[in-house]
Amino acid sequence: MKYNVVKYPDERLKLPSSSIDIINDELKELIVDMFEVMYATDGIGLSAVQIGIHKRLFVMDVPGKGKMAVINPKISEVSKETSTYEEGCLSLPGISADITRPKKVKLEYTDVEGKPAVLKASGLLATCIQHEYDHLDGKLFVDRLKADEKLKKLMEYRKFNNL
Ligand code: ZN
Repeated sequence: MKYNVVKYPDERLKLPSSSIDIINDELKELIVDMFEVMYATDGIGLSAVQIGIHKRLFVMDVPGKGKMAVINPKISEVSKETSTYEEGCLSLPGISADITRPKKVKLEYTDVEGKPAVLKASGLLATCIQHEYDHLDGKLFVDRLKADEKLKKLMEYRKFNNL
């Protein structure tokens, strides 16, 4: 594989990603590479920042929803209703935690052909979108935990990964 997954506590995961201006062959190649990394690591979502590229781009393949590449995403609506899923992250191998987020989101983005697209998502897909979106702003799922829970999870992470 051309890319490796950047793992916590790598500082690159904390940096915000920049908008994409041009959708060219190079970007399409990057998307293909990102799917390759995601499938090789058994993930259902991967953001470009997770392979060290700070561009506002993520890929997903949520069971039953199909492959999707999302460029310059914007979450324009969120529901008041929430749902809780046990989340994990390719950048934090070995740990997971229950995270509560809005149950439904409206996602506006640019597709691989450069066309504007809108997606209304709920359930696991909505959670995956919000998880990947957070990566673009330098945020990880553990950042959504209360301070003491976060500390506990990160200690578990260091132990699991012999850090
Ligand atoms: Zn993640």
